[in-house]
Amino acid sequence: MQKGMTIVYGVKSGLYVNLTNRCPCACTFCIRKNADKVYEEPDTLWLEHEPSFSEVRAAFEAQDMSRYTEVVFCGYGEPTEALDVMLETAAFVKEHYKIPVRLNTNGLGNLINGKRIEPLLEGLVDTVSVSLNTSDVENYLRVVRPGFGAESFESMLDFARECKKYVPNVVMTTVDTTISHEDEKCCAEICRGLGVSYRIREYSAPDEGDSSKGTVSENKSTLKDTDAVVETETGTVSKPRSQLTTLCYIEKGDSYLMLHRVSKKNDINHDKWIGVGGHFERDESPEDCLLREVKEETGLTLNGYRFRGIVTFISDGSEAEYMCLYTSDDFSGTLIDCDEGKLEWIKKADFMKLEHWEGDAIFLKLIEEDAPFFSLKLVYTNGRLVESVLNGRKL
Ligand code: SF4
Repeated sequence: MQKGMTIVYGVKSGLYVNLTNRCPCACTFCIRKNADKVYEEPDTLWLEHEPSFSEVRAAFEAQDMSRYTEVVFCGYGEPTEALDVMLETAAFVKEHYKIPVRLNTNGLGNLINGKRIEPLLEGLVDTVSVSLNTSDVENYLRVVRPGFGAESFESMLDFARECKKYVPNVVMTTVDTTISHEDEKCCAEICRGLGVSYRIREYSAPDEGDSSKGTVSENKSTLKDTDAVVETETGTVSKPRSQLTTLCYIEKGDSYLMLHRVSKKNDINHDKWIGVGGHFERDESPEDCLLREVKEETGLTLNGYRFRGIVTFISDGSEAEYMCLYTSDDFSGTLIDCDEGKLEWIKKADFMKLEHWEGDAIFLKLIEEDAPFFSLKLVYTNGRLVESVLNGRKL
């Protein structure tokens, strides 16, 4: 293993800071198992020793800082392992360069340091990007293999939640193509529940030879695994998930086909009864998304449908969601098992007895009243409906 003292290195317009090679995790995809670096430059990100703050400062002073628009704590280990130097460096950056500071982290800083570290980030870090990786604890333990064991997943979520109080921008990330769309949906719901943004980071194959995306040709043998950590540790350009969704209530007589969300752990909708639907995929129209989601989740084919309204969801600082609301009583096919929960025909009159989001009762009432096409805005704080606006008027 080649070692050196690469403390900072440029990636596009960001200056990346490599403070430590320590990490409590042993991710199956970690690039460190297979390479000494992420980019063509520098030679190695393995450190001869962890730099002191004065060494970090000297490394910054050797740079032309006018080239950079952001400083990113990242490197070849978990930055919060070197918490004191990281905080001192962030304060130095704020004082001398006045550019945004980002922390890319596995979110285990509280366990690593044996104390809550979120308040220490206030005023020093502008963005915290936490690697969520997957939506359930079993997969997380299998893939991330944290040294702290089962408490790690919850601690990571708790860290993200708490960071919101001290850091303007909190993002949780997964890597495109490394988990299923169903898992991505669950991750999005987790983030929505936490009130943080969700980003699906771009996947780039090492054999594309694009060093700007943090891939290195010598890592072809670890193509997919490598990409995941490259993204995690280097902050490659992220791709936001669509804020557009569809939801459909399929009707049969006096009943709706409802999904009881009981299958996924850490599901923001856990135990709630909702219709079927999901996020738009690339190049989809609302109807494309509607038909695909209904088919995927129920096995049914919609032969006809009505577009009933647009519902705007605002929730605790996460990105707004714009939901296209449909109903359909014209369908064919046979119901399948849904991996997101249990499908059941529920009498419309019984809906209010079931566990549901408060806002859902408003738009279901509008549907029942056969209201003309409507725009409904629902604002949630801590999971509670605090405001509802119909066609521009507060309810
Ligand atoms: S991918 Fe990141 S969190 Fe996982 S072992 Fe490597 S450095 Fe640690």
